[in-house]
Amino acid sequence: MKQALLLFAMVVALGVASQASEQAAPKLRAGAAAVDITPKVFPLHMPGLFTARMADSAHDPLHARALVLDDGETVLALVVVDNIGVVQSVCDEAKAVASKQCGIAVEKMLVASTHTHTGPNSSVKDGTVPDVEYRKLLVAGIAESIVRAHGALRPAGAGAAASPLPEEVSNRRWFLKPGKMPLNPFGKMDKVKMNPSRSPDVLDRPAGPTDPDITILSVQDAKSGKPLALLANYSLHYVGGVPEGMISADYFGEFARLMHSRAGGEDFVAMMSNGTSGDINNISFLVARPPRKPFEQIQIVAQKAAETAWRAHATIEAHRQDARLGMIQREVTLKRRRPTDEQMAAAKAVLAVKDEAERDKLPRLAEAYAHRILSAAEASETVTVPVQALGIGELAVCAIPFETFAEIGLDLKRRSPFPRTMVISIANGTNGYLPTPEQHELGGYETWLGTNRVQEDASVILTDNLLEMLAELQKSSPESAAH
Ligand SMILES: [Zn+2]
Repeated sequence: MKQALLLFAMVVALGVASQASEQAAPKLRAGAAAVDITPKVFPLHMPGLFTARMADSAHDPLHARALVLDDGETVLALVVVDNIGVVQSVCDEAKAVASKQCGIAVEKMLVASTHTHTGPNSSVKDGTVPDVEYRKLLVAGIAESIVRAHGALRPAGAGAAASPLPEEVSNRRWFLKPGKMPLNPFGKMDKVKMNPSRSPDVLDRPAGPTDPDITILSVQDAKSGKPLALLANYSLHYVGGVPEGMISADYFGEFARLMHSRAGGEDFVAMMSNGTSGDINNISFLVARPPRKPFEQIQIVAQKAAETAWRAHATIEAHRQDARLGMIQREVTLKRRRPTDEQMAAAKAVLAVKDEAERDKLPRLAEAYAHRILSAAEASETVTVPVQALGIGELAVCAIPFETFAEIGLDLKRRSPFPRTMVISIANGTNGYLPTPEQHELGGYETWLGTNRVQEDASVILTDNLLEMLAELQKSSPESAAH
């Protein structure tokens, strides 16, 4: 009988029926799974820097980690993938494969990348054979993680909390002392510089805030009370310190391993998602750190992040089995930034310089950005991107397919109608950086046309959409507003 009811609730969740579900008391179920997606065949392209890099080995494993939640009406999946930014086509293919196998609707799936800078490319057009093979492995691995998590559904409770870890996040954009600003690739002067020299003669003040919080969603087995899954979120770009040519999941992977040994349990899955870290990194600008061995800083940050997440975990009063779920996906169309006639002429002039000595006099990265300007002129007028809002009991989750600036996450957290809000970047695809209009005014790497690809007020449009979606979710689940 109970099984029949559950089955019926699932049918309702799939949208076949709607009314009678109210008869069944909402009982949360959850399942989690981690699938190894470490590449086996090398060499592989490793994106993330201006110079081409190839990987020839993996130092530690990469995973697709999935959490599936089901409240009897809504079934949703959250996946965190060890990759710099899984492109939307790969996310979409993986979702379609998983949906066919387990029945969860594709628009109820969130696939986010950790943004490790030492992972394979998710989609290389003219790549090596291993690159092309890796894309298939990635699609299959993401899909399998969802299907396996769905297969592991069992009665569960969920709770959310946050705790700060301020010292491992720095805003990487700085105002500099007078006379210290170099020319940008376009031969112009920005007001701020990304990752300037750490000299006190150069640094004036950071150009923006950091978000110090590690926010967690904790899921426990309802019967045993044992931890089942922990989804964490921290606004840190990545850590780095990986030797050349090596694949690594960076601190995101190490965090998952450390949480696993803390929480115990064979099938416990921890995952660290990327918050709003477009302008945030792990460089200690003002205080000199002792030299680190490879992977040492990764371990230090992972250790602190695990401690902080565990501290947050301890503050959760109750893992609620009556947590209600909701998820809304919107497709938002944004205008692409187009180069002006002046920018086009300047780019062509840069590329026309043939004399070796003259080329050496060009500003740093001038040629790279000249190419980017020309290709921006060729791109379509608009781009349509998916944004998602999830309600999991008292927790709201926003998913944004950009490298999002910290103040956007802070703003969403402040204005969210939910007691607690998590903002996941590089979710369901990746479309470059997302600065605020105010940060566009200041210039700097993340705002340059070619690094940034969409209209300068895109963050305002996406934030407005997300707040509307959160309000909508809250209306359908008013107990989430209890606090
Ligand atoms: Zn990055």
